[in-house]
Amino acid sequence: MPPRITCYGGVGEIGGNKFILEDRGVKVILDFGTGFSEGSDYFDSSISPRGVNGAGDLFEFDLLPQIPGLYSEGALQNTNVEYTEPEFDAVVLSHYHSDHTGRIEYIDPKIPVYCGETTSLIHDAYSASTGSPLRGHPIRKFRTGDRFTIGPMEFRPIHVDHSIPGAYGFVIHTSGGTMIYTGDFRFHGPAGSMTKDLVDSARQEKPKLLLTEGTRVTPKGDSAGMSESAVKKEALKMVRGTRSLVFSTFRGNDVDRVNTFFDACLETGRRLVVSMKVAMLLEKLSADRGLRVPRVGRDVDVYLRRKKTGKFDDSDYYAWERPFIARGLTSEDVRRRQGEVFLHLEAWNFPELIDIKPDRGGTYIHAATEAFNEEGEKEETLIRNWVEHVGFRYAQLHASGHAPGKEVGELVRTISAKKVVPIHTEFPQLFGQFNSERSWVLEPPVRAKAVSIGP
Ligand SMILES: [Zn+2]
Ligand SMILES: [Zn+2]
Repeated sequence: MPPRITCYGGVGEIGGNKFILEDRGVKVILDFGTGFSEGSDYFDSSISPRGVNGAGDLFEFDLLPQIPGLYSEGALQNTNVEYTEPEFDAVVLSHYHSDHTGRIEYIDPKIPVYCGETTSLIHDAYSASTGSPLRGHPIRKFRTGDRFTIGPMEFRPIHVDHSIPGAYGFVIHTSGGTMIYTGDFRFHGPAGSMTKDLVDSARQEKPKLLLTEGTRVTPKGDSAGMSESAVKKEALKMVRGTRSLVFSTFRGNDVDRVNTFFDACLETGRRLVVSMKVAMLLEKLSADRGLRVPRVGRDVDVYLRRKKTGKFDDSDYYAWERPFIARGLTSEDVRRRQGEVFLHLEAWNFPELIDIKPDRGGTYIHAATEAFNEEGEKEETLIRNWVEHVGFRYAQLHASGHAPGKEVGELVRTISAKKVVPIHTEFPQLFGQFNSERSWVLEPPVRAKAVSIGP
């Protein structure tokens, strides 16, 4: 049987990547994430799958495939599926976003996880704070330039630019030829040239199959959108035009965004203040010499939320939080220095504004994706209500983690693989428009149906 790839997620949807690659009896899982809208017909913030049922509540709605030899004993407890020894040799992870990692928590921890060195540092930071789905698995680290083999397959990880550090695409040599998996990518971030490295290597391989993301391949087409440097330019203008507090919602693990706002602070004499969770992440990532990361204490401060007694006693905090207490800024500190602070504040922490009581006339920057579904719209309304309540102006400022459709098309044409399997997109059929030479076959993936690599 020729080597083959089967998609169990990321099919006609953005995120939820779950692929199984098989070659001569060796089985590798490529990403195993949670889809963004996966299960939203049955579960939401008020109805969640029960922990006691392991993966059982997800099997009920076909949100996880029932595959033998894949899941842990804990995941199968109280389900109809019996635990058997692992039949998989590895999980290979492209990057640490939940739509690629989220369901790894159900996988048998005897199966090792291969990930980039930076990803393993992110995993360390979250393991020490709020938890990581990779917990318990042996971690095998790689960097760009490495090659590793799993059975008959050789993997060559190549860095790409994305909205989290340590993102990779892969050149994979199988017994039936070479395939490329792009992971998530963009060209318009600070390290866009890294994605070009993947495209160059992939093209030279004359691959049989290309598994590529297409988040922004849509029927309307897509405007070029903002680059990260444009975000910085706009942010600078906003911060310069604000006398009182600036606060912003953005993903703390988007280190490019952290640097963008850190730079805006450097140029305007403000201090960037982040949550303890982000501070923990920055501390761990500072071990990565290939990354530019602001230092906690020297470059950025930590926001100290009141918890339990509200008196900042050590016992109010988890052990991992305690080292940050002495260096923390309280709501009162932020109020006193509001003209000198740029505060990172996630929406769920907005009640802190009640304590901070900032002067009216400040600026709020929503530095995240704009609402694209009903739930997002509801959250945006809440955010706008809070911003209006404190009398701030609302600004939207964001650079996507994904390449616009046009650039995805250029990538597909340049690599010119024999078969193209579009994943991580709502519109796989649209990839047909990228076929100029008719030298390849479009294979819109079908859930649980294998596509062979090679002939
Ligand atoms: Zn993704
Ligand atoms: Zn991603």
